[in-house]
Amino acid sequence: MIDLINVVKDFKNGDVSVRALQEINLHIDQGEFVAIMGPSGSGKSTLMNILGLLDIVSEGEYILNDNNIKKMSEAQFAILRNKEIGFVFQSFNLLPKLTAFRNVELPLVYSGLSKKERRERVIAALERVGLADRMDHKPNQLSGGQSQRVAIARALVTNPSFLLGDEPTGALDSKTGEMIMDLFCQLHEEGRTVILVTHDEHVASYADRVIRILDGKILSDELNLKVDTRSLSDDSRSMIEEEVR
Ligand code: ADP
Ligand code: MG
Repeated sequence: MIDLINVVKDFKNGDVSVRALQEINLHIDQGEFVAIMGPSGSGKSTLMNILGLLDIVSEGEYILNDNNIKKMSEAQFAILRNKEIGFVFQSFNLLPKLTAFRNVELPLVYSGLSKKERRERVIAALERVGLADRMDHKPNQLSGGQSQRVAIARALVTNPSFLLGDEPTGALDSKTGEMIMDLFCQLHEEGRTVILVTHDEHVASYADRVIRILDGKILSDELNLKVDTRSLSDDSRSMIEEEVR
């Protein structure tokens, strides 16, 4: 469970201060599938970095699963991030010198698990994204979609309850992006809380809830009307999908 209470985030560059988030109040329950939308510079990445424990608030509170982030020690903060958060980026952020296997293994390096246990977990994560046969490949030997799947395996390897993505389909063509969104949908159906930033309305249509932000403020926060069209004929499905869009 996520609670942001009166959150403000300022960035200071010398004498200049930019207020990237102002008075954000947000509650996200376990198991939700949320899309965050907004124009460039509206504060989406800043919000995600705070949610994903890559950055801290300037003012206000962040409560993650009953932990008040402000009141935690550095060590507790690092453990919580490793345990609860899987983070996926637009540009994959794989280490180029390491194989897919080693990239996925990274979050487990200080886990205290044995080499054998780590290997099992890494292979299970790569199997989950359908890439066990690519584990010895380096990032430059993988397509964009495969790289993002490796990055998702890396995010999953610690079995976090929250899966966060900052424009995870932004660097992919639309067909590959849909495959990645299908994977996020499956991971959500398996019980994970999924929070994605996108500026693509189609990508956002996969989510159950869409939060729009502008100038660091929440503009709207609405449930997505979704119709399960899978059992319908192709004609009625495209009619309904047209309607919903
Ligand atoms: P978005 O992801 O929606 O494009 P960001 O969260 O990256 O927006 O940025 C929101 C605002 O905060 C922008 O005005 C941006 O310039 C500013 N900002 C973000 N990160 C930093 C930083 N590290 N230092 C200074 N300003 C920043
Ligand atoms: Mg951004």
